[in-house]
Amino acid sequence: MEYIGDVIYDYADGLYINMTNRCPCRCSFCIRNLTDSLGNADSLWLRREPDLEEILEMIRETDLTPYNEAVFCGYGEPTERLECLLAVCDYIKENTDLRTRLNTNGLSDLIYGRKTAGDFAGRLDAVSISLNAPTAEKYDALCQPRFGKESFEAIIRFTSEIKKYVPDVTMSVVGSSISRRDIEECRKIAEERLGVKFRVR
Ligand code: SF4
Repeated sequence: MEYIGDVIYDYADGLYINMTNRCPCRCSFCIRNLTDSLGNADSLWLRREPDLEEILEMIRETDLTPYNEAVFCGYGEPTERLECLLAVCDYIKENTDLRTRLNTNGLSDLIYGRKTAGDFAGRLDAVSISLNAPTAEKYDALCQPRFGKESFEAIIRFTSEIKKYVPDVTMSVVGSSISRRDIEECRKIAEERLGVKFRVR
């Protein structure tokens, strides 16, 4: 198979899957603005998106022994390829012992114009959702989502829905991008309002 960029790479004990560079946001802190690669990858910028069969072949060709979990992450928003993402989850669940985790901006309901949280039932063990800011105005300024101000409430709704389907739900913020006070406000939203875990990354 020709090299199209690093679709699969490893980071800590995770097998990371980078299936798209598309994203509805332009976060000021996005790591994509700083470096082309992470973990053992050379470039997470893809010349083209791999199709489902190519991703499955790459997984089949990988020795999975060192890994505990498959993580959908990379230089784009994985839910931009929801159908493919779900099919890869199914393959991993049926054929490996890996846990599955999705790192997402939580905007898939707006990308598809419908509720998407239920799609992940039985497919994900964990999901990490970027909250990033404590209000719609601050989120909009920091992440510049193409959906505008409705994005923040959509993330909150998505999080409260996905709790019903995925056992381990975390919201996160980038500690260096917001004030301590805003971090505490975000913690309250995650832990007190939504009843999920909270992480400063
Ligand atoms: S949502 Fe993630 S990939 Fe998209 S711009 Fe923000 S940090 Fe980058």
